[in-house]
Amino acid sequence: MQKIKVEDKEFEIFLENDTLNKRIRLLGIQINLDYEGKCPLFIGVLNGCFLFLADLIKEINVPCEVAFMRVASYEGILSTGKVKELIGLPDNIEGRDIIIIEDIVDTGLTLTHILKTIKDKNPASVKVSSLLLKPAALKYEIEELEYIGFEIPNEFVVGYGLDYNGLGRNLKDIYRATES
Ligand code: 5GP
Repeated sequence: MQKIKVEDKEFEIFLENDTLNKRIRLLGIQINLDYEGKCPLFIGVLNGCFLFLADLIKEINVPCEVAFMRVASYEGILSTGKVKELIGLPDNIEGRDIIIIEDIVDTGLTLTHILKTIKDKNPASVKVSSLLLKPAALKYEIEELEYIGFEIPNEFVVGYGLDYNGLGRNLKDIYRATES
């Protein structure tokens, strides 16, 4: 089992880049079918989404636009339970078909907050694509969660855009924290 250390913490390999890419290709096919004849606006939630969005968008063959926004609230391994303000939300949301791109949905608090803010701006539709989802951690019902890469256990993961204390975003594969 391939193990690595990020700062003080040990991680083991969980989802290899090849596995991620195969799943992302399928998500792309699904989105292309669902948005035929439309021009969706993808809104990536930084920082964690940047590699997922970069790979997903290359699979999209309907006309589309891409924008990014930011929410800062997560420190270390445990969520603070607080969502800070949304930064850089695009202003051309009204009447658009929005697809929010997330790296991971944990409790769903962040996403619930983002969805409420976006819906207030009267988009034509809103869906969410998240590379990872921790169903056991989910505390909010989110019906817009349409395109999920992988459902994973309630464990801390790092790599492929996801960080541990700011580190590990550059890792090609996704790793999970070992017990010890
Ligand atoms: P939520 O609001 O759904 O509880 O938390 C969502 C955010 O928490 C994600 O966008 C991500 O930044 C962070 N997060 C949740 N679980 C993990 C995890 O296992 N690893 C990393 N690196 N970040 C996580």
